[in-house]
Amino acid sequence: MEESIYIDSISYPVTNLGPGKRVVLWVQGCTLKCNGCMAISMQERHEDAKKTVEDIFYAIRKASLGLDGITISGGEPFEQAEALLRLVRLIKEHTSLDIMVYSGYTIEDLNEQGESASKLLSLIDILIDGRFEEENSNKKLWRGSDNQRFHILSERAKKYARYAEEEYRGQRELHFEMSEGNSFKIIGIPNRGFMRDLKKQCRGLGLTLTQP
Ligand code: SF4
Repeated sequence: MEESIYIDSISYPVTNLGPGKRVVLWVQGCTLKCNGCMAISMQERHEDAKKTVEDIFYAIRKASLGLDGITISGGEPFEQAEALLRLVRLIKEHTSLDIMVYSGYTIEDLNEQGESASKLLSLIDILIDGRFEEENSNKKLWRGSDNQRFHILSERAKKYARYAEEEYRGQRELHFEMSEGNSFKIIGIPNRGFMRDLKKQCRGLGLTLTQP
């Protein structure tokens, strides 16, 4: 049984990646390689980023006080389905967080991926599924492109059904969080062309924006 997960980072409280206040876990590793992926730095796995399921759970539990849910993104969460299943079981058992997961695979694909993926699907409350399609419009709330679907998978999550078709009102909200060294993380779903414009503005200020 897989005991560890490659993770990128954990942030909280986050208010722009799912309903209410949330803790967000970003995992490393995605083989889908969508054009225009905003999470290029999370496509590869790094050995020093491997953490035990227990350590990740303790960090999430510590963060969970007063929060509504956890959002698991990446990277591709279902490419570590077995270990993630263990983590999600602990979260369900010991916290009151609801669970929202982003996947580049469709729910139909995930149902064919084997036991761990199916069990994981049975425990999560909301799934946002489908590849990022750069050429597709992106108006829908919490989605990078409008082909991505918002699935309510539990009774508990039915109260969130109104978000399935909701669109962004006005400007999208992005949050910037300082990371180690001189780097920062952008949290949220940016408008199309945002990175290009940000790079241009940084150049104007004599700064270089790097995206590993
Ligand atoms: S599924 Fe997500 S993380 Fe993976 S390449 Fe596509 S946009 Fe990037």
